[in-house]
Amino acid sequence: MTIQWYPGHMAKAKRLAIEKLSMVDIVVELIDARIPQSSRNPVIDEIIGSKRRVIALNKADLADPVATREWVQTFQSQGHAAIAIDAQHQKGIRQLKELIRKEMAPVFEEQAAKGILSKNIRLMILGIPNVGKSTLINRFVGKNQAITGNKPGVTKAQRWLKIDRDFELLDTPGILWPKFEDQTIGMKLAITGAIKDDLLHMDDLALWLLEYLLERQPERIFERYRIKAAEIEQMTHPEVLLLMTERMNFGDDYDAFSERMIHDYRKGILGQYTLDEPVGEQTAGEVDGE
Ligand code: GDP
Repeated sequence: MTIQWYPGHMAKAKRLAIEKLSMVDIVVELIDARIPQSSRNPVIDEIIGSKRRVIALNKADLADPVATREWVQTFQSQGHAAIAIDAQHQKGIRQLKELIRKEMAPVFEEQAAKGILSKNIRLMILGIPNVGKSTLINRFVGKNQAITGNKPGVTKAQRWLKIDRDFELLDTPGILWPKFEDQTIGMKLAITGAIKDDLLHMDDLALWLLEYLLERQPERIFERYRIKAAEIEQMTHPEVLLLMTERMNFGDDYDAFSERMIHDYRKGILGQYTLDEPVGEQTAGEVDGE
């Protein structure tokens, strides 16, 4: 799903998210493991405020595992509970639930000390479009879902999904807008599919990605798109893209090939690449991937 974001939409999304947040104990901030920095909403901290949260780096199957580990550590060092998951293939879901329980444990202990019986953990999922919110809700619920009825005082569109013995999950996620601060962030969001494809030209995306991958792991490009290091030595990136277009039997249809290349990246066919360098990895040029 893609949305065009205008200031009015942003204000409304923010208001809705804050409204939902008031109903839950804890929030799962869902981000894309390939772009852990760029897939965070710019005002997320302001929106979440002091509410408890767990940061889940989704689509870990598509990201560089080493970079993902470093990103998880970075968030942890900032004081956040963080975990990598792959909602699509049901990986890390049990661990995510455990992390949520762990984050909530002090609250329940405090309440127990006051003689208050522990209740269900109410949670919601929050993130930018296409990051995997609906997929995660489905994985959370699994097969044995039971929708509890609307409760008095709760907006009528809100439903709680009863999960396991101790969770209640809001059945609709909070949707926030992505960052649009600079061209590079826009590129990364478009390449990973977080913003509308037609906002940027496919060949611009493919060129950006080509340059990025040639710097890091050119073998994958050479092998997949039938070119050789020696023959492209003197070529500009647009020339390399055109050569790959021909080799892949796209004739001179540069745009169609560009689309194929972006598709290949999104499906993980080109390998696992993280496009946001982990913080503190300034010498990223030396990192060789797997
Ligand atoms: P939402 O807009 O945040 O609700 O995102 P969706 O749940 O609709 O997911 C967007 C796309 O990402 C879908 O094509 C999902 O199949 C895919 N997706 C979600 N989670 C994962 C994941 O962990 N790995 C991979 N490879 N794809 C995922």
